[in-house]
Amino acid sequence: MSQRWGGGFVREIIGWQRGQPILCFRRAAVSDGARRLYISAGIHGDEPAGPIALAALLEEGFDFCGLDAVLFPALAPDALVAGSRTNIVGIDLNRDYRDPQTDEARAHLVALSGQGDFDLAICLHEDWEAEGSYIYEVVRAGRIGMAKALLGAMASHIGPDGRDEIDGHRAEGGIIRPGMRAAERPDWPEAIFLFENHCPIVYTLETPSGFVLDRRVAAHRAAVLRACEILAGCAR
Ligand SMILES: [Zn+2]
Repeated sequence: MSQRWGGGFVREIIGWQRGQPILCFRRAAVSDGARRLYISAGIHGDEPAGPIALAALLEEGFDFCGLDAVLFPALAPDALVAGSRTNIVGIDLNRDYRDPQTDEARAHLVALSGQGDFDLAICLHEDWEAEGSYIYEVVRAGRIGMAKALLGAMASHIGPDGRDEIDGHRAEGGIIRPGMRAAERPDWPEAIFLFENHCPIVYTLETPSGFVLDRRVAAHRAAVLRACEILAGCAR
């Protein structure tokens, strides 16, 4: 079931969460050789800023700098309505990407299975314990990351979390570069699945849930715009 959308996107329902559609928006690149961008949001239903930021860009007809783009603006739509981190039976979808047990994660993986590789993947999240914006950067050896640039864009609205340790990881200036050890983890988050199967550069962007929603949305939006500019090599 697909439908044409503004900005050259095709909207497709890839699954359901308790009667709410899980949507994917795909747009082929406007020129040959354009790079491939993946963005998801709303895998945790108590983290609305990312979904709002992505939905607004789609509503406005933002062109994503001509990139080939695959977007999942709300991976857990029922949980978003409920304001719940987990799905209705208490499962954190973002721990279900190694051997998926939930219909939601399975539907997402089926939708991704024919998608090939991306040049950049971004997962939009929020954190109640955060004191500012922060980023998990996972970059395959030899690739150049863009964490500082993304955090700099977010800092126009919410400055970086200055703690030395965030969520159990060593952090520097709001940037976490976690050791992956994917093989040892039974509970893969989406970002690990993407890194292992689809993309050499994966970011998880976090805004602080205790801050005003408009600022959190603006911070995610700024990071997405900056990522598009960098990946497409277009100055705005
Ligand atoms: Zn989250």
